[in-house]
Amino acid sequence: MERTYIMVKPDGVERGLVGEIIKRFEQRGFQLLALQLLTPTKELLEQHYGDLAGKAFFPGLIKYMLSGPVVGMVWAGKQVVKTGRVMLGATNPLDSAPGTIRGDFCIDVGKNLCHGSDSVENAEKEIALWFPNGVASYTRHIESLIYE
Ligand code: UDP
Ligand code: MG
Repeated sequence: MERTYIMVKPDGVERGLVGEIIKRFEQRGFQLLALQLLTPTKELLEQHYGDLAGKAFFPGLIKYMLSGPVVGMVWAGKQVVKTGRVMLGATNPLDSAPGTIRGDFCIDVGKNLCHGSDSVENAEKEIALWFPNGVASYTRHIESLIYE
């Protein structure tokens, strides 16, 4: 089953939106495999956002992400990478449709509440980076009520 890394950024944690974001993934039917609150190091964030290192907004992004603890999680399910991104909304919250997390709860790109892996390959890299000790694997009894 496909897996993705979803992270509530420091603004989302401070604003008390952790439960709301977890709720949406739970209610959709995705399976929670890992969950942690931690204050990331600069090194971890620079690795996580390595592809963006040359961008003008990169220093600001690192500063934002260092401003408090984040909540990282791993969700599993059919097409969860792509669907997770749809649930988060567009990178710029002003382009995010209502009903998405960013479209419902934020305004500026530099305070856009959440992260979601953008490909299956990057998801696996991010899961390994943020959960070096591995994540859970278990079978749910409700599987047949979610998948045909
Ligand atoms: N970001 C920003 N300004 C920009 C583009 C991105 O501050 O012009 C931040 C924003 O927090 C975004 C993160 O950098 O979520 C990572 O950018 P990416 O393009 O990977 O967007 P995402 O995958 O988070 O939608
Ligand atoms: Mg991204």
